[in-house]
Amino acid sequence: MPPIETQISALLPALTTLRHELHQRPELGFEEYETQRRVTDYLRTLGYDPQPCAKTGVIADLNPGRGGRCVALRADMDCLPMQETTDLPYRSVLEGRAHKCGHDGHTAALLGTASILAEMREEIDGNVRLIFQPAEEGVDGGGARVMVEEAALDGVDEIYAFHNWPGFSRGVAHVCAGPIMASVHDLVFEIHGVGGHASQPQVTRDPVVAGAALITALQSVVSRNISATDAAVLSICTFQGGEANNVIPAHARLTGTLRTFDSDVAEQIVDRIRAICGGIAGGYDVRIEPEIEALYPVLINHADCAEAVREVACSILGPKNVTEEGLPLAAAEDFGRFTERVPGAYFFLGAGENADSPGCHHPDFDFDDQLLPMAMRLFVRLVENRVGLRP
Ligand SMILES: [Zn+2]
Ligand SMILES: [Zn+2]
Repeated sequence: MPPIETQISALLPALTTLRHELHQRPELGFEEYETQRRVTDYLRTLGYDPQPCAKTGVIADLNPGRGGRCVALRADMDCLPMQETTDLPYRSVLEGRAHKCGHDGHTAALLGTASILAEMREEIDGNVRLIFQPAEEGVDGGGARVMVEEAALDGVDEIYAFHNWPGFSRGVAHVCAGPIMASVHDLVFEIHGVGGHASQPQVTRDPVVAGAALITALQSVVSRNISATDAAVLSICTFQGGEANNVIPAHARLTGTLRTFDSDVAEQIVDRIRAICGGIAGGYDVRIEPEIEALYPVLINHADCAEAVREVACSILGPKNVTEEGLPLAAAEDFGRFTERVPGAYFFLGAGENADSPGCHHPDFDFDDQLLPMAMRLFVRLVENRVGLRP
């Protein structure tokens, strides 16, 4: 078997082209049919027997049925519902769809890893499950939950994944034990009052004024109910109500998001939100229906697995390029659905050239192809360390 660096050099041109082709034809959550077909075809040529999972996802085992440990590696595949503004030669050709989180790169990196692992098949003293997940960006509660329901983790001992992150310097791995990304609750508040002429507010029950009071009152939850040693973010991001400047509407609607790093803190905040809705509704004589949906749990890295990532990253990137700085992030990720079930760790690979590098979800963002070889080395070394090689 050729050394891993020789294999990576040989794989990179085709892998980079594949990444650009995925970028050009991005697909939204649970609609990744073309991506699923490409991943399946690629894995078949390497001798895997890939199976569909969670509608548009794919799972494949390196050594099905072999004893020993099983480590899963996961990549997400979906794009975002946004317009690409770059003039890249491989920019998205599909209206309102763009790979602006780099999941095209995560998919390509895991396919490259699959290729190297296929060469090592006999040498590896156990199994590796490759998990290509649909719908990470939040469609219908996310793809990870469905994959877990469809037994994608059966027989898996540990799971790992990475995300590119332009906010961190290129070539630096960021990893920590414990919470690494936040939980998310979606918040919707429907406020029902009685509309009427703007000149006669006394015969209405104004949902706009009640909504304004609700926004202000909600700001007190994090500042007045949460300990200084806990962290949470509660943001109200939309406020809709009314259409004419002389009509008090009968209805207003607020939406927002809640992020925390601890499920008990989240529960406490949700209780306070409900109590405040009741208080404002009584005080302003309107009806408030809060719809609070727990979207993604806190992503918690298991200590052993985070340490394994740290050791492997230190050996590949050098200890000065491995850090906990900037963690945890208040962004969220449904990989936490996997680490709720089995031990695992999630890490970031810095992709930033400078402070102005467009971040994930920015219209000018593009995945940094220089991360492909780095991610492949890290994944392969993790497999060697956590599954083991035959003597
Ligand atoms: Zn994203
Ligand atoms: Zn992402």
